[in-house]
Amino acid sequence: MKRLAIITSGGDAPGMNAAIRAIVLSCHTKDILCFGFYHGYNGLMEDEYQLLSPEVVRPITQYGGTILKSARCPQMHDDAGVKQVASTLKRHKIDALIVIGGDGSFRGMMALQAFWSGRLIGVPATIDNDLACTDSTIGFATAVNTATQAIDKIRDTANAFERVFIVEVMGRHSGHIAFNVGLATAAERILSFENCPTDDFKHVEHSLIAQIQTQQQNNHSSFVIVLAENLWPEGPQGLKKSLFESAKIESAVCVLGYIQRGGSPSPEDRILATELGIEAVSAALTDSGVMIGKVNGVLTRSCIIRATEQNKPVDQALHSVYKHLTYT
Ligand code: ADP
Repeated sequence: MKRLAIITSGGDAPGMNAAIRAIVLSCHTKDILCFGFYHGYNGLMEDEYQLLSPEVVRPITQYGGTILKSARCPQMHDDAGVKQVASTLKRHKIDALIVIGGDGSFRGMMALQAFWSGRLIGVPATIDNDLACTDSTIGFATAVNTATQAIDKIRDTANAFERVFIVEVMGRHSGHIAFNVGLATAAERILSFENCPTDDFKHVEHSLIAQIQTQQQNNHSSFVIVLAENLWPEGPQGLKKSLFESAKIESAVCVLGYIQRGGSPSPEDRILATELGIEAVSAALTDSGVMIGKVNGVLTRSCIIRATEQNKPVDQALHSVYKHLTYT
């Protein structure tokens, strides 16, 4: 292998830069020319790239975001767009493409397989941790840290005012952030896909009201609800409205939003990104259509289809722990 390309695609995640650095340094030791294309698949459409030398990537590990920028690229949903990406790769005689991103970005890789015969390797990076075949994705640990620190601060105000707070966390359609952050902050209630029957929100609402009222009768204290995004009808404002209309319970809403995606990556994410990045370059020498992961402490190469199509539920052990802590 002589020429390798990298893109960062989809939602950015803290630790993407550490993965880029590891890939570039690993290519350098193997005498492989490394192309960094900008703005995800758009850079491959527009032929927008920079050659990545060790000098370019030395000071980037501690920064969130991605030096290669990220973006969505709707043209990848049509064959014409995918062919254009393939023709750029062919023109530059690229032997392997490493995609650092989430499941959408990996679906783009699968589409590319039909028009390009080079090697395709995925490195899982998303704060949502919603990819199978790896215990943790790059960025997840940092997002959990960030949200935990934010809710600790909200707790101070909640305590001072003896208030109910509804805090919405990210996760797209998975509850990894909600469960981990809920446990880390000792939230009185975690509302997530895994423990909320979406066909019976009324039942959940009644049990929540009962829990808040029991706590209010026994002592005056704060009550923090960690709510997964995209779960509750009309989001946290919908829940706030229901609590008031059904039981005159006042609450404050805080949507943590994009602060969870940014910031300096935690040491855990930097180390994971470095390990996955180096393994990705090794995999690019022999394999294609695989995602690099780490399962039970061991680096793995899994079929990209399995990684994107299999569901990764929140660890059952976390459910059990949470059940021991709820008062209803
Ligand atoms: P993430 O990788 O974080 O899940 P997205 O779902 O937004 O982010 O996907 C990132 C990009 O991957 C999209 O903008 C598009 O270019 C490409 N992509 C996503 N899904 C597909 C698909 N089914 N076919 C081809 N390309 C896709």
